[in-house]
Amino acid sequence: MNIRRSLIAGNWKMNLNINKAVELINAIAAIMNEIDEVDVLVAPPFTMLPAVRKAIGSSGIFLGAQNMHQDMSGALTGEISGRMLQDVGCTHVILGHSERRGIFQETDEIVNLKVKAALVLGLIPIICIGETLEEREAGKTFEVIKGQLNNSLQNFKADQLMPPSTILAYEPVWAIGTGHTATPEQAQEIHQFIRKWVEDNFNIGTANQIRILYGGSAKPENISGLMAKPDIDGALVGGASLKGDPFINLIRFKK
Ligand code: PEP
Repeated sequence: MNIRRSLIAGNWKMNLNINKAVELINAIAAIMNEIDEVDVLVAPPFTMLPAVRKAIGSSGIFLGAQNMHQDMSGALTGEISGRMLQDVGCTHVILGHSERRGIFQETDEIVNLKVKAALVLGLIPIICIGETLEEREAGKTFEVIKGQLNNSLQNFKADQLMPPSTILAYEPVWAIGTGHTATPEQAQEIHQFIRKWVEDNFNIGTANQIRILYGGSAKPENISGLMAKPDIDGALVGGASLKGDPFINLIRFKK
C-alpha cells in the first residue's frame, strides 16, 4: 500500500494577475470536496499571495511561494524572506527551480542555505533537481542528480535529519515547458534512484515517506501513466496549471 498522498502542485511562475488568480482558485476550490486522495498546492507570484490565500479560504488548497531569500530580514532590496511568506499564509516554498538555477545563477550552495532557512521556520521546501539535455546525452544524469542532492541537501546530511514532509521534485530541464515529457519509465528510473539516495543517506523510513514529484510538461494526457509508477508521488506543473480545465483534470487523474 502506498503510504504517500499524491500531490499536484501548480507553479504559476510570472503569469496571471490577481483577478485571474482568484478565478482560477475559485474553479479549483469548487471541486476540492470531490478529491480525497490528492493534495493540491498552488505557487503564485508574490504579489498575488494575499488575494489567493483569501480565495483559498477553507478549501484545503495549499499555498506555496516560488522562491525566498535565505536571510530572515535585512538590507536586501527586492528580496522576500521565508517569514514574510508565512506572514501571508504560505506553508510551502519551491526552492532550486531550474529557472532559478539557470537564469538567476542559484547554485546548490545557495539552495542549501534556503532549504535550511525554510526548515528553521517550518516552511515545507519543494526542492527541485534535474539534468539538462546535454547532461543526459552525455550519460551524466545520475551523476548530476546525485551531485545536486548531495550539495543542495548538505544541511540535512550534516544534521542527519530530513523531515519526512520534505518534498523533492525531479524536473528534467529538457522537459520543462518544451512539451517533451519524460516517459513514465525514464521518470521512474530517476525517482527510484532519488529514493534510494534518501535511504542510503538517511533511513528507509524517511525514504518511504518523502514525496517525489515529477515536473516537465505534465498534462492531463500523460499524468495517469506517470502516476502509475511506484516512486512518482505527484507532479509539479507549470503551463498546465494556469487554466482551470487542465489543472482540474490533472488533479482528477484517478478518474
Ligand atoms: C516547471 O516549471 O516546474 C514545469 C514543470 O513547467 P511545465 O509543466 O510547463 O513544463
